[in-house]
Parts: sequence; C-alpha cells; structure tokens
Amino acid sequence: MSCVVSTIPERCKRCYCCVRECPANAIQIQNGQAVVLSSRCVGCGNCLKVCTQNAKSVQDGIAALLARFAKGQGAERVACLAPSFPAAFPRIDPLRVVGALKALGFSRVVQVAFGADLVSAAYREHVKEHDGTVITTPCPAIVEYIEKYYPELIPNLAPIVSPMIAAGKVVRETYGQNATVAFIGPCVAKKLEVLDPAVAGVVDEALTFDELIDLFDARGIDPAVQPPMEFDPPDADLGQIYPVSGGLLKSAGIGSDVMDEEVVIVEGRQRCMNIINEIAHGKVNSKLIDILFCEGCINGPGITSPLNYYEKRESIINWVKSRRGQLDKQEWQDAMKRYAHLDLSRRYENRQVQERIPEEAEIQRILHAMGKREQGNQINCGACGYETCRELAIAVAQGIAEKEMCLQYTIDNLEKSHRELAEAQAQLIQTEKLASVGQLAAGVAHEINNPLGTIVLYSHLLLKQLQEADPAREDIQFVIAEAERCRTIVSSLLNFARQGKLDVARCSAGELVDAITAMLKKREEFHHIRIETQLAPDLPPLYIDPDQMKQVLLNLTMNACEAMPDGGTLRLGVDHGPSPREVTFTVSDTGVGISKENMSRLFTPFFTTKQVGKGTGLGLPIAYGIIKLHHGQISVHSDVGKGSTFTITLPSDLRDYPSGKQMSPRELAAALSPGQNTMHTVK
Ligand code: ADP
Ligand code: MG
Repeated sequence: MSCVVSTIPERCKRCYCCVRECPANAIQIQNGQAVVLSSRCVGCGNCLKVCTQNAKSVQDGIAALLARFAKGQGAERVACLAPSFPAAFPRIDPLRVVGALKALGFSRVVQVAFGADLVSAAYREHVKEHDGTVITTPCPAIVEYIEKYYPELIPNLAPIVSPMIAAGKVVRETYGQNATVAFIGPCVAKKLEVLDPAVAGVVDEALTFDELIDLFDARGIDPAVQPPMEFDPPDADLGQIYPVSGGLLKSAGIGSDVMDEEVVIVEGRQRCMNIINEIAHGKVNSKLIDILFCEGCINGPGITSPLNYYEKRESIINWVKSRRGQLDKQEWQDAMKRYAHLDLSRRYENRQVQERIPEEAEIQRILHAMGKREQGNQINCGACGYETCRELAIAVAQGIAEKEMCLQYTIDNLEKSHRELAEAQAQLIQTEKLASVGQLAAGVAHEINNPLGTIVLYSHLLLKQLQEADPAREDIQFVIAEAERCRTIVSSLLNFARQGKLDVARCSAGELVDAITAMLKKREEFHHIRIETQLAPDLPPLYIDPDQMKQVLLNLTMNACEAMPDGGTLRLGVDHGPSPREVTFTVSDTGVGISKENMSRLFTPFFTTKQVGKGTGLGLPIAYGIIKLHHGQISVHSDVGKGSTFTITLPSDLRDYPSGKQMSPRELAAALSPGQNTMHTVK
C-alpha cells in the first residue's frame, strides 16, 4: 500500500523530528533516511508540520483527479469544499474560491458543511441511545489511530460517517451516482479515509488546500480575481463551524459547558494520545469525547496560511455568521428532511499493528553495543526521537531505527575514528620514515663499508711501516679508532635494515639472562651497578632467536647502565604470561628516567640524548625491530628521576609462526612501525 506521506530523501537532514513527533511510531530510519511506514501511519500529517526541511511530501491527488475528469466525460464534476476553506484563502471573498473551482472545470461546488449538518443530527440521536463513552469520528486520523493501536476502543467509536462521506452521499444522490466527487480540505488523513473499505466509493479523491492552490497556480487561476459564485445546493447551517474547536458539539446542540463533565473536547496530538490511552485504561467517564488530531481542522497539515490560529478561527466564525444571516431556514430544513433517509452509519475494523516485542537479551545486546549497558549511560536525551535509550534499543531490534541515531553513540564513534585516523597517520609517517631509513642504511652499507675497510686496512699497513717512536703513529691509531667507530655505526645500520630473518633455536630464559649478566659484569661501566635477576619458576623452554634476543637485552641493559652514571640497581626479570604461550622480560633501572617529550621519540632511529661519539640512537630501534620479528611487543614506563622499565612480551614458541622468509625493507619498516604495539607511559 502506498503511503499518504513520504520523505524527499535529498532534503532529509536526520534531525529525527518526525520520529519524535509521530504518534504512531511510523517512521523507520533506513541508512539515516526517514521512511514513512504505511502499515503504521495514521495519516495525521504531523510529520509534515514538524519537518523544518520540508522533506515530507503528500501523496499527489491532482494527477488522479485529472485522470478521472478525462474518463468521466459527461458526468458531473463535483468539488466538496471543506468548511475550513476561508482560512486557506485569507482576505479573499470566499465565494470567489467557488468561482475559481468552476474555472478549474468543476461543474458543481458543494459544501461539506451540509454533510456535517446531517452528521450532527445523527450524533444527537446516537448520544441519547448509547451507554458508555462515545468517541467522535469526523477526524480520520483518530479513527485510524484507534483501529491500529487501540482496537479495544472500536465499540466506543461513534458508528457515524464523517461529514465528508455524508456530503459525498448527498452529492451522489443529487448529481448522479456516476459523478466524479473530489473532497478538498485541510486534511491528509482524508486520503486514507476515501480508500477505507467501510466508506470507499463515495468520494473519489481527497485533495488538500495546498494541492488546490498548486493546481490554481498551474492553470493560471487567481481566486482573488475570479467572479464570486454561489455554492450549489444544498446550503449548510451550523455544520460550517465544524473546523473550529467544539464545532461538532455546537452544531449538534450538545452542551460543552465547562461545568458539564459529560462532554470533553480534545485537540492536538499529545492530548489525543493521552486521552485515548486513559479511555483504554477505563479512567475516563465522560459521555462524549469530541476529538480532533489537529488543533481544529483549521490547523490541518494541508493548509498553508499566513494566518495564525486565532485569525483562522476568526475568519471561519465571521464567515459562518455572515452565511447564517442569509440562510433560508425553511429550505435548509426541507433539505435535511430530504436527505434524512441516507444511511450515515459505518463500521470499523480491527487493524491492530502487530509489533514484535524483542527479547530482553536482545535489547541488552543493543544497549551494550551503543555503550549504554549501565543505567548511568542511558541518558534518555531524546535526540534520537525516542523518549528513552531503551525505546530506541527496542526500535533497533524491530528494524525501524538505527544505532547511529543515538547522538552520544555517534559522537563517541566519531571521536574514536578521529583518534584512529590520527594514530594511523602518525603510524604512516613513522613507517615512511623507517622505510627510508632502511633504504638509506642499505645504501650507506654498500657505499661506506668498503671504503671504511680500505681505510682501516691501509692505516694498519701504514702503522706497520712506521718506527716505534714515530710521532705519527698516534695519529694513525686515532684514524683507525675513528674508522672502527664508523664501522660499528654502519653495522648497526645494517642490522636495522637487514634483520629480516630469525634463527629460531631452543634456549632457556635462564641461559639468556646468565649470558647477559656475565657479559655485563665484565664491562667496567657496570662495576658501580648492582645487578639483580629474577626468574619465575617453571618457565617454558623458549624457541626464539637467542643471539638476537641477547642483542635486545644488551641494548636495553646498556641504556639502563648509561642512565645510572652515579650507580644504581639494574633488574632483569623473566615471568610467565600475560597469556599462556607468552613470556615477559623486564629491564628496569633506578636511573634518570625519560622525559615526556623524549618518550614519543624513543625507538626512532638516531634519536639520542647522549654525547656525540657516545650514542648512536640505534639501540632501541634495533631492539624494537627484533621484538617485532619475534611477534612481540615492547613498552616503556618511566618516572623522571626515579628510573625506567622496559617490558617485552614474546611468544615463547616461534615455531607456531610462519618464519624464515626474508622481509623486504618496506615490510620490515611496517613491522618496525611503532605506535601499533608500542606503549609508552611516563609519569
Ligand atoms: P643511544 O643509547 O645510542 O642514545 P638508544 O636507541 O639505545 O640510543 O636510546 C635512545 C635514547 O633513549 C637514549 O639516548 C636515552 O635518551 C633514552 N633511553 C633509552 N633507555 C633509557 C633508560 N633506561 N633510561 C633513560 N633514558 C633512556
Ligand atoms: Mg643505547
């Protein structure tokens, strides 16, 4: 079934206003777009009124009407004009609108208000006879709402047709059953009513005033300059006051005194929904509920008028007063008698909307996914259009809402993506940097290593040729020492660039630690440092590259030593975990610590705080590269002035991993890229 209201996708700006304002939960959000669900829609047109982007459109009745005109050649073309029309054409003699309709091609223009007169008479009778609360039915949105959402109240609906249908019946009887009958009014729900099987076939098409104005414009008809013409009979009396608050009661002569608890007038979406709910819960004792979804038909969604509510109301009252002064009462009474035999009864159908109630577990799962598992996070801000986070979760489960409608969730996601993007960007820069360093290192290795070898070789030859007492010997020895230092740097670079391959062998953590401590103790710079080792019991055998891991531990312990120029304690520990097939190495010192600024620069090639000739800035990048090749992680925690701890976690058995393949410089650089797995903490 097509819907009387639909969304213009390019205009919908995801404000969820229509979701919030729809009394029937008939707005589904699909890929961020609001879609009106015809099965749930009651045609109230509230979404048209609240959409600030004009992104809702009403089903077109014009094309269908013109098609009927073309088909029904020779038959009468009757416009049934709703009594609110003076509000839609302000500051124009209302009878010029009749002239304009005739200019448009209608052969007759009759007043729906006469149908209202007939309906009022039927109400007078029904209220007298019926026990219990009677709900009035001129408003089709109310009828739809009860049929779909409160079918238990169907017995309360007055079994009386609307003024539109009553007028349609009058028209068919007067101007021929084959007449083309078009209702024109302020209401969108009338488009649903004309198709309702209980009354279908009486009125052919329902157009809004806005559509009529479009049609006038399209045909170049300006109602303001059309000759005034009288309505075709029958003339109407108080039925003309229907579109203002309490109009039905006034017309039916049923009291609406504030002291009269028997009769209640209810208008507006929220009040209507409330009272219907209260009636369903047996909390309303009144005899008659005169109810309209809009605040009077003059405020219907199909009427765009520069007038405010009170001006519209005034325009109707003034019009009714002037008309009543001219009414031939006798003629009207005769007409009422003439049409008294018309059957104005109607039935209603239970068309209850079946809603799937999701399981509690499903609701919780959705709330959890939106980061709202804890009650405290369910802020019920209403930005999504639902009153509570839980209602949104239920709607998500029912497939009519999306998690992204939650502002909090979307902002959190946005922030997360932003963070991830920034991290990815930083990582990319680092990867690029390391890739170029790798390439540079390979280049340097080729170009410098050989000449350096030549320098060292020839320097040694020169040294041999010189006498023991030759003062140049010292200079040559200095040349050799400096060339050797260059070679150390170059070989470190080579390590960094080429360490793509692991030689996995069985070893134990104890062996590694012992080898390192033995090596350290031999070094003079460690003599003033206390070395403590701590190995957890029952450590598994390790299948790693022992030489490269020694290199890592050496680099870290050397740094630790250099951070404690005045002595201190170096702790080397090995423990289980954090997960079952992993081991953790820790190297901590009681040294100078690392400042916050320097923390982010660690692991970057050539970053050093040491004097020229002392530090190369390659110790940590090399350690990092080796740990990455071992599928491990390395992190740092440092307290400035107190010391630093480097923590390495490694899989204990690298045979679980495909290995042996030499990495390309780019792969290596990617593997080396910090940020992904490196964690820095600093106090
Ligand atoms: P290098 O030791 O040649 O400077 P590294 O890559 O080994 O190069 O270390 C880079 C820098 O990281 C050091 O210069 C130092 O500033 C800092 N650093 C590394 N380990 C420590 C530590 N244990 N304590 C304090 N600073 C450290
Ligand atoms: Mg170092």
